[in-house]
Amino acid sequence: MPTILITGANRGIGLELVRQYAADGWHVLACCRSPENAHDLNKLAQHSNGQITLHLLDVTQAAQRAALVAQLKGQAIDILFNSAGVSGSWSSQGFGQCQEKEWLDVLHINVVTPMLMMQDFAANVALSERKIIANMSSKMGSITDNTSGGSYLYRSSKAALNMVNKSAAHDLARKGIAVVALHPGWVRTDMGGPNGELSVEESVAALKHNLANVTFADSGRLIDIDGSTIPW
Ligand code: NDP
Repeated sequence: MPTILITGANRGIGLELVRQYAADGWHVLACCRSPENAHDLNKLAQHSNGQITLHLLDVTQAAQRAALVAQLKGQAIDILFNSAGVSGSWSSQGFGQCQEKEWLDVLHINVVTPMLMMQDFAANVALSERKIIANMSSKMGSITDNTSGGSYLYRSSKAALNMVNKSAAHDLARKGIAVVALHPGWVRTDMGGPNGELSVEESVAALKHNLANVTFADSGRLIDIDGSTIPW
């Protein structure tokens, strides 16, 4: 049974990733900050015959990451999916509004922790058959696509994540691991808001399709929801 580890698995796109991968027969290591309060995730897990396991993980907490590394030592992980992310408040990231503390928090969660997760779990991915790391990025991190300005916190974090993704693709090539950045579309979640173009079900179905087609030749790409490459 293939295994996927998903961060931010308690709601939004992460929760739907859990649901659809479990439905396809995968073992899902569902990580979230507060497993005891993750009601929807617990409900899914209860009906999964042990296929979905819950794991405590605030990605910013080194001790929690270390505990999970120890718990999963020697276990193959086919896909490490760094989905957890934050946007920062949309109403306070225009020119003249940006605050240092909030910006650093966004960078910490969206850029630094995916890298730490890759460092922590690359050995597990290397043991697997598929050997894929997926970092949830965004078209908003594309410099080419930026025709409207603003959103400094979020845009800069995803642009930096794209660079982290590309370097890791080079560095993990020797382990045979493909590292890809994914854009999930504009999705109706707490982050995406009610006007998003896609439901979580539609987004995740397309993300899964794209991941199923990933080969080593795709490593380093920023992949749009339709499978095309988003320019940097
Ligand atoms: P949501 O706001 O719905 O969910 C965010 C998830 O990230 C939650 O599970 C949240 O957990 C988790 N999270 C935040 N901080 C941490 C942390 N420190 N440790 C562990 N988990 C954390 O967002 P989406 O589902 O919409 O977004 C998922 C990913 O997709 C993000 O990386 C986002 O940037 C990206 N994305 C989303 C788009 C959209 O339109 N929705 C578009 C482009 C990219 P908790 O409940 O504990 O806060």
